[in-house]
Amino acid sequence: MAKLVPTEWIWHDGEFVAWKDANVHVLSHSMQFGSSAFEGIRCYSTPRGPAVFRLEDHLQRMLNSCKIYRMDVKYGIDELVAATCELVERNGIASCYVRPMVLRGYGAAGMVPFDSPVEVFIPCWPWGSYLGDHAMENGADACVSSWHRMAPNTTPSMAKVAGNYLGGQLVKMEALANGYDEAIALGPDGLISEGSGQNVFVVQKGVVFTTPMNGTLLPGITRDTVITLARGLGLEVREGPLQRELLYVCDELFLTGTASEVTPVRSVDKIPVGAGKTGEVTRLLQRTYMDLVQGKIEDKHNWLCHVTAERAAVKQDR
Ligand code: PMP
Repeated sequence: MAKLVPTEWIWHDGEFVAWKDANVHVLSHSMQFGSSAFEGIRCYSTPRGPAVFRLEDHLQRMLNSCKIYRMDVKYGIDELVAATCELVERNGIASCYVRPMVLRGYGAAGMVPFDSPVEVFIPCWPWGSYLGDHAMENGADACVSSWHRMAPNTTPSMAKVAGNYLGGQLVKMEALANGYDEAIALGPDGLISEGSGQNVFVVQKGVVFTTPMNGTLLPGITRDTVITLARGLGLEVREGPLQRELLYVCDELFLTGTASEVTPVRSVDKIPVGAGKTGEVTRLLQRTYMDLVQGKIEDKHNWLCHVTAERAAVKQDR
């Protein structure tokens, strides 16, 4: 579990405001109806200074979430990239979690949101490993949740919006109450969907499997990164429906997410996964991922947004 650690500044609609002044009214539409789109992004300390991982992809996903919910955002990707880089620089933290949020503010009384302004906030703060260093090293203990994920064409799973996380909270709180680190939820068809904040990967006989984009899960950017890295390492990766029981009989299991990075799972419902410790393929992918985000290996896909270089480029354009 993680408590917020305040930093100095939060970007709000073109201005930098003090952390304590980044407020909304209690009757803002998002508070009443859960109508905010957001992102979770990590910035890492690299030999070339702080670098935000796949910043543009995250911001694009946020703008897509807004589009689905008919939220008109005043800012384009370039402005949001510049705002994020300046924020990280101003707050002076090399490694942090960035949480851009687009929310519907104060105005509309009822569910119809159009009388509320669309506001953008970008905070960031330091955040260590999501499931703890122990889980990163030895593997998390997970369960299968009694809560299912939403069906396709109910609330859209492709949109990363606050309301979707009500289900995620039920999944995660149940897991914690029962003594597990994390839970994997099934879709309405009873097949594996995703963790409360992670995508799921299974390794069987050296082949890496993950669930398809089937309308029940978020298309994770870490998922895409790991698929790309695995293929680059010569591993076979297959996307397809995965049955629950594979969680018990697979050789290796791991979860991916911006906060969770690549977290091994060592047991599901108290049944050991493989040998009950982090498997070789998982370790390889975890190391490769961490080396990439920390700028220790070549960034072939241009996924690292180096804050200082980006800021210098913006200044030159002006
Ligand atoms: N599924 C859910 C429900 C999530 O909240 C997250 C974290 N954003 C993920 C999957 C993984 O997505 P990403 O790799 O883009 O962080």
